[in-house]
Amino acid sequence: MEDALKTRTATDPMHLLDVAQHPLQDWLRQQGLPSYRGRQICRWLFQSRVETFAQMTDLPAELRRRLEAEVPLWTTRVVAHAQSKDGTEKLLLNLSDQQQVECVLLRDGTRRTICVSSQVGCGMGCVFCASGLEGVVRNLNSGEIVEQMLHLLRLLPADQRISHIVMMGMGEPLANLNQVLPALAAAESPDGMGISARRITISTVGLPEAIQRLVRLGCSYNLAVSLHAADDRLRNELVPVNRQIGIEQILVAADAYFARSGRRLTFEYVLLAGVNDRTEDAQRLAGHLKDRPALLNLIPYNPVPGLPYRTPSTASCRRFTQVLLRAGVNVKVRQRKGSAIDAACGQLRRLQTPDVVAIRHTPALQ
Ligand code: SAH
Repeated sequence: MEDALKTRTATDPMHLLDVAQHPLQDWLRQQGLPSYRGRQICRWLFQSRVETFAQMTDLPAELRRRLEAEVPLWTTRVVAHAQSKDGTEKLLLNLSDQQQVECVLLRDGTRRTICVSSQVGCGMGCVFCASGLEGVVRNLNSGEIVEQMLHLLRLLPADQRISHIVMMGMGEPLANLNQVLPALAAAESPDGMGISARRITISTVGLPEAIQRLVRLGCSYNLAVSLHAADDRLRNELVPVNRQIGIEQILVAADAYFARSGRRLTFEYVLLAGVNDRTEDAQRLAGHLKDRPALLNLIPYNPVPGLPYRTPSTASCRRFTQVLLRAGVNVKVRQRKGSAIDAACGQLRRLQTPDVVAIRHTPALQ
């Protein structure tokens, strides 16, 4: 699945933050410069949050000039910035081929979580999600993923750090692991944001082969599996990619991930009124989860214009939750964040409705 999708754009110039390609190390080596310069540059970007090489004042002036002249730093540009009263902020980024993606900063107590996209659009076809309405256009490259992190980081005051990363933006991260993993490694690095893998969550529609790859790699990210239905008949309808997979295979892969990583699994379940929120759905779901080391995240449907689904009432969410709790499942109902600016789960999209873009335009960051 991964190789079939183009990642890069036609011209493909070198891009400093495209960490999957090790561009900085290669460039420094070619110039006969020591590799610690690379670590210095990373610290300027991820820790001091500067925008230009010129601001990296402990680099020799001549090196700064050559970097400015020869090494492209940013390939994405913030073209809109929306802020919600609950502290959520959403950025719309233009990519070098004029495609666009969105990413989100969420504030919760002292937590500062960023929600990052992995693809332009999404190919999984979940019928209730805005991100896949127009299909998938291409994978993001690792640089475009890292740039989302940096743009979001720059929204925080200097004394605040990003505490968590969730790969829950647009796209299916497990369909683009070759780019997602190096980007996460950059975030984890002590010269990057120094975020431990335990504070990073990869959310997936459930692609067993890719989950098995994470197992082989010995990853210790949190794995969140978007289940949304407890039987294959319903899941085939709601999550069409399930037709080639099936719930059983996903659970087997998720169990293997737990066995290797020791990380408690998370399952996500969007609640759609009258579709997957019946008592029997809850009972069947409890059957899958009650003996697993798992947390169930229930997500009341966030409305997407043009889609026919409805959010269940609070009473109906509570009834569904009770069935699971009584069966011994750990359940959390996900707090809705950012829905006022269409930044909540499933509301990120590639093609912007004019009112969203108009919320507030920021001057270009470069
Ligand atoms: N492709 C990955 C990453 C997306 S994460 C995945 O499927 O997990 C976004 C989460 O929000 C997923 O669980 C997704 O199914 C859920 N979601 C999508 N549309 C939604 C909507 N309209 N309301 C609530 N949750 C939604």
